[in-house]
Amino acid sequence: MEQINRLGRVVSPGVVDYIERPVAALSATQVRIAVKASAICGSDLHIFKGMHPFCKLPATVGHEFSGVVTEVGSSVSRWKIGDRVTVEPCITCGVCEECRSGSYSYCEHITFLYRNGDGAMADHVVAEGDHVFALPDTLSFEAGALIEPLAVATHAVRRADIALGHSVVIVGAGAIGVLVAAMCRHSGVNRIAVVDTVDTRLDMARAFGASHTINAMLDDVEQKIREFGGSAGVDRTFECVGRQETFVQAMMWLRKGGLATMVGIFEQTEISIPVTRFVSHEIHVQGAQGYCWDFPIAIDVAKELDLERLVTHTFPMDRLQEAFDMALDRSKAPMKILLVPGTNIDN
Ligand SMILES: [Zn+2]
Ligand SMILES: [Zn+2]
Repeated sequence: MEQINRLGRVVSPGVVDYIERPVAALSATQVRIAVKASAICGSDLHIFKGMHPFCKLPATVGHEFSGVVTEVGSSVSRWKIGDRVTVEPCITCGVCEECRSGSYSYCEHITFLYRNGDGAMADHVVAEGDHVFALPDTLSFEAGALIEPLAVATHAVRRADIALGHSVVIVGAGAIGVLVAAMCRHSGVNRIAVVDTVDTRLDMARAFGASHTINAMLDDVEQKIREFGGSAGVDRTFECVGRQETFVQAMMWLRKGGLATMVGIFEQTEISIPVTRFVSHEIHVQGAQGYCWDFPIAIDVAKELDLERLVTHTFPMDRLQEAFDMALDRSKAPMKILLVPGTNIDN
């Protein structure tokens, strides 16, 4: 009998459905993976709202996942049926100048599995064997689905040149902000302040390594930052929200010569910045997106983190609509929402 793959997709803003596709034959270098856990990412939410800059609807969704290898292409020797794995979900050309110099995240033709119609809110995903990573025995499938966002945090923190003795402020305690805090802690930094407006998220940031938390709704943020960083300002900031106000804060709280790393996804394409301060304080501002050689590091550090703790809600794959609705419900303060095979799970 012909095997069918069922994939969740966003048909129109706010509406999810499923498509059923016959399972196609693998190429020699590919691997088929049965999805065991698949997480909703901020970028999936941009797609769900119909506001993703590069992704037109209808579109399949999901790129943070883990699973079990069910089939391997004829030339794949590294993987065998039954292996527990996660996947780096980008697709790069391998031949452009950036790819050939090793900066594959700058590939001129980079795309992602879900943008090619192979989202991970599905029964199966097909990936190139060389983009597959083994999950250590001590990591659950739930943790395995969170390696991708941890790799994003790893990339941002590696770019930020963190050093022992630095003071760090992270603006935004969504999953990425919390994981950036964890990676700063694992880089040896012990002064890490996280700013957000929701206490449950700040508690999460503390559990993952923040030494200070500031609730921007309740506290006098400017005063708290001065208490934390001193009058000179802090060494490093990370913007993990994607708004003008927080971008400016990430610049203003730096000491002279400090470095701000912008990780948030902005729905606006342009904002204004305090340019006089930028010049007078010799501030450095850089972006960080995606990952490049970061998956092995993320997997290694994940062994020392309680990643499952980030999962606030779990739904069976056939309740994708509810899962997305929940992701946008601020009253439920969702952090990470996971979809798993099966049908009966209560939240
Ligand atoms: Zn993601
Ligand atoms: Zn390339």
